[in-house]
Amino acid sequence: MNVLITGGAGFIGSNLIPYLLRQARADQDLDIRRLVNFDKLTCAGNAENLADSETDPRYHLIHGDICERATLAKALVQHEIDAVVHLAAESGVDRSIESPDSFVTTNLVGTFQVLEACRAHCRDLKQEFRFIYVSSDSVFGSLDASIAPCPEATARDPASPYAATKAGGEHLVRAYCRSYGFPAVSLTGSSAFGPFQLPENLIPMAIRRLVLGQPVPLHGDGSQTRDWIFVEDFCRGLATALVRGRPGESYHLSARDERQNLDVVRQLISILHALQPGLSLPAADNLIRFLASRPPHDERNALDNSKIRQELGWEPQETFETGLRKTVQWYLDNEDWIEAVNARRQASQPLKPVAASSA
Ligand code: NAD
Repeated sequence: MNVLITGGAGFIGSNLIPYLLRQARADQDLDIRRLVNFDKLTCAGNAENLADSETDPRYHLIHGDICERATLAKALVQHEIDAVVHLAAESGVDRSIESPDSFVTTNLVGTFQVLEACRAHCRDLKQEFRFIYVSSDSVFGSLDASIAPCPEATARDPASPYAATKAGGEHLVRAYCRSYGFPAVSLTGSSAFGPFQLPENLIPMAIRRLVLGQPVPLHGDGSQTRDWIFVEDFCRGLATALVRGRPGESYHLSARDERQNLDVVRQLISILHALQPGLSLPAADNLIRFLASRPPHDERNALDNSKIRQELGWEPQETFETGLRKTVQWYLDNEDWIEAVNARRQASQPLKPVAASSA
């Protein structure tokens, strides 16, 4: 396969690209000859995250915007691409509420341009083509505690512009499958965590503040619940869909590990105590600051993952605890990365930290 990943310099892409390059050597089904990262390098994208992949001759970075169809079309032909993983997006619920324009442009219009470029490219291609669209569990809106996790057929009910644009992208992808027989697979992921996640997200933000001895802000009573998945399991799910996903189908990618934000922060405090016994932290209750609740934010997101497990044989390999421990260790070992990200962001347009967001 010659694979093009849109938005590969973001959080998921910075984990997916090294994963695919590594895994392609070990897994006979995953034969990757070329891996092209097509990224606009917005404030969420950081090409330096992929410094290790740059030495791999299979890896190429193209600085491009998915809204420019001709540039993308050229890349598809030039690199003889036969698989696309479409990650590029504006992400973040808060930012989408503050300024939805770029979300509609990139997530809706941009997805349309990617689909059109790929549809034209497919027609001229001799071999099979595959397309993976990556969506978010926020498309289903908030679930009551009594409701079972959403299966794939659940009606979309987005509460934020971010969620609405991701749901719009899903509908476009499905319509392309039905109207043109376009070979797309849709993968809807729950909240991922792990290395390279920007500090405005709950887990990296909380780790940073706790290390500095600062209280962690949580909205409402901290009972907001997310269905967490370690990013390497997320990447393995994407790779599985790339190889075995059935065109026209959608799959839910979650580890079925629901946690309230308050429990996440308490767990981080206990991991930090274990990993850094010398760290002097105030009592746990003094380390959490409760803020007013934020109505457009979903109270609970949760995905049923039976289909991907039964049909594609994917299973998470990390528990929330083991993934969280690896994540904390990575942030402790990579303080320079956090400093560099913060400096870059202050120099451009700083984003407000949020306490608990869905991606
Ligand atoms: P991210 O915001 O960290 O990265 C997005 C990447 O897209 C960045 O590298 C950015 O530079 C690039 N990009 C933005 N606009 C672009 C454009 N017009 N053209 C080309 N590149 C552009 O996002 P992420 O967390 O890595 O998420 C990746 C995808 O996975 C998104 O589609 C997101 O909706 C989806 N997703 C993420 C999560 C999660 O927990 N992070 C969960 C479910 C689904």
